[in-house]
Amino acid sequence: MVNESKIWEHLEDVFDPEVPVLSIVDLGIVRGVQVVKDHVSITITPTYSGCPAMHTIEKDIELKLKKEAISSYEIHTSIAPAWTTDWMSEIGKKKLKAYGIAPPQDEVDKSVLFADPLVVPCPKCNSSDTKLVSQFGSTACKAHYQCSTCKEPFDYFKCLR
Ligand SMILES: [Zn+2]
Repeated sequence: MVNESKIWEHLEDVFDPEVPVLSIVDLGIVRGVQVVKDHVSITITPTYSGCPAMHTIEKDIELKLKKEAISSYEIHTSIAPAWTTDWMSEIGKKKLKAYGIAPPQDEVDKSVLFADPLVVPCPKCNSSDTKLVSQFGSTACKAHYQCSTCKEPFDYFKCLR
């Protein structure tokens, strides 16, 4: 018997292709799960429009559902309202930091990233003495920073509305 909480559990096993420690549930990509009889319908919202990872995520969801012997399903993509870093769970932010990527800074993020020198604490030593190296890190979704205290380079997850 399929139910909604079971599906949420399955989706916790589907990881973001760009940040493999985060499940799509941690990221807040999964917006809704509905089960009517045995038919599952899942709504996802891409982290940013044109994110090439979205196609992979859809495929990964399908693979997971098939593995769980769920054959009647549909996956919808909803682009409005747009994904925001606020949807990322607190656990997700902790996992991101443990992985060495600075999690989005809630309030500061909404100010203009390009105009304000944004203080992004180093995920390794927590020093706030860091500097922006490049607006684009390993993917378009991340900015590249370097810590002036421990000298470690790191990515900052900057996906915005
Ligand atoms: Zn550091």
